Amino acid sequence: MRRRISAIAVTAMAAAASLALVQPGSALAQGPGQVTGLQAVQGEGFATLSWDPVEGATDYQIERTPVNAADEVTGSARIVGLWQPTRTVRPDAPTFADSGFVLGERFRWRVRARFDTTAQAFSEPVFGTTVPQWGEGPGASMRTQFEQTNGAQYTSDLNEYAYTAALDAASDRVRVVEIGRTVQGRPINMMIFGNPEPLPSAARISATPTALIQCNVHGNEPSMREACLILARRLAFSDEPDVLASMAGRTILIVPTLNGDGRAADTRGNIHGQDLNRDHSLLREPETKAFAAMLRDYTPDVAVDGHNGDSEDLPVLGPRHLNVHEPVYAEIKNNLIESRIYGNAAAAGWWAGPYSNGGASQETILRNTFGLKSILGILSENRGGAGPTRPGATAAENENRKSYGQLWLARQLLDYHRESLPAIQRLIADSIAFQRSNEGPVVFRGAYPWPPFPPLLSAPDVDAPTPELTLEDPPCGYFLTPQQFAGANPDGTVERRLRLHGIAVERAPGYVAGGNGYLVRLGQPLRGLIPPLLDGQAVEPMVAGTRLYEFQPSADGPVLCGRPA
Ligand SMILES: [Zn+2]
Repeated sequence: MRRRISAIAVTAMAAAASLALVQPGSALAQGPGQVTGLQAVQGEGFATLSWDPVEGATDYQIERTPVNAADEVTGSARIVGLWQPTRTVRPDAPTFADSGFVLGERFRWRVRARFDTTAQAFSEPVFGTTVPQWGEGPGASMRTQFEQTNGAQYTSDLNEYAYTAALDAASDRVRVVEIGRTVQGRPINMMIFGNPEPLPSAARISATPTALIQCNVHGNEPSMREACLILARRLAFSDEPDVLASMAGRTILIVPTLNGDGRAADTRGNIHGQDLNRDHSLLREPETKAFAAMLRDYTPDVAVDGHNGDSEDLPVLGPRHLNVHEPVYAEIKNNLIESRIYGNAAAAGWWAGPYSNGGASQETILRNTFGLKSILGILSENRGGAGPTRPGATAAENENRKSYGQLWLARQLLDYHRESLPAIQRLIADSIAFQRSNEGPVVFRGAYPWPPFPPLLSAPDVDAPTPELTLEDPPCGYFLTPQQFAGANPDGTVERRLRLHGIAVERAPGYVAGGNGYLVRLGQPLRGLIPPLLDGQAVEPMVAGTRLYEFQPSADGPVLCGRPA
């Protein structure tokens, strides 16, 4: 809340400064196309500009000019953004989140409407000092490499380890644990936050409300990672009411860098070239193995997986795999994304929309794996480079804008967890019960719909289910031979990888091919993940198990899914 109070104070100052510049009679000079009502409210790493809409305007240009404390211009004016009414759920209430500047600097902003491409007169200016980098208490002196260079450099692996270790040492609220190692041996750390201190074990955390931020899986997409490290300092040291509330009776997990080797090499994949966000079901790599075990042990309620790409400021997408419990998909799409995130983004001035660069129903993608594990999780992207609506002058300006946009998004997830917890917990319980019931068809691939919204955007893939990728009458389980289950495998045994997911396996009597083996029932919490992993008809199976049905006699006897007839 302190952030908001200071923002209001700055706005009041800006309004006073603006009023002082307005000469008597200037209102009469306004043309019909001139923007009025411009205001600036300072956020963390961005300033929300809002103004009254101009009748018939095609779009609006936002100008930012550096000024000194006396509001004298000290640098050149630049158009830093283009606001289009098609890019928001509130086209009649224009707002633009100006971002990319060096935090703490002071600016003059003006906005002008355009009719087609014909620019109208600029609005009266507003002035404001942007909110400096946050840091209080022991956090006052701690800054990441990214912050020290104002976005010109990403935080290195060594700087990340030193920074997170310093947070751990200075704050009782955070504990850093190593959840695994990358191929090249880099620690995969997780920061565990709680107030006054984090709960002591994964089991205790699993039994209580928990939110997860996964910050960097594609090594060349580091902006959420920087947001996570900045957020971590606030969680460690801030006494602001909303920060304390986000930790009240709950745990926040932050994994800054799942793909440390890829981050160090600035590559999408890990050092094997494997796209780790296409490996959250098969678990062929040490990084995804570690992450799956963490999900199994800590069972977060809500989660975000951070990336950057696509064309909006903040593209987001939820689980779409059809094996996800339908109310989970609907809650994330309708309530979390299209109501809360799009609505709040419109108020703050970010352009949010559905991520549309493919990736619909693959169970290998984390936002889908989250849903299949009854976690309410989303993908969060952002606009990778500069463009007409965000013509960042420098790479650092773009990186600042991306990371502070992701910081805003990450805090949306924490707010959602805090404000909707009872509904979230009910939905998770319902999802687990639904999966355990093993009722209804399952698919190997196939997506819930996600139509374009707002209308300017292209839609995500349709990816509708097809008959050959659907089991209308699912089996009660899969039989695996000892060789299938425990046989040597360069990706790790099936036994180990199912255990990392937390998929329950039973020893089964030998009714297939005359030998003993193993039974994986569908009626369990991870039901939706099992056919894509264990059915030979699946697109990317781990192994081709034998389908078992309750009432179909087999050649060797009537024992099916462990039930004697
Ligand atoms: Zn990505």
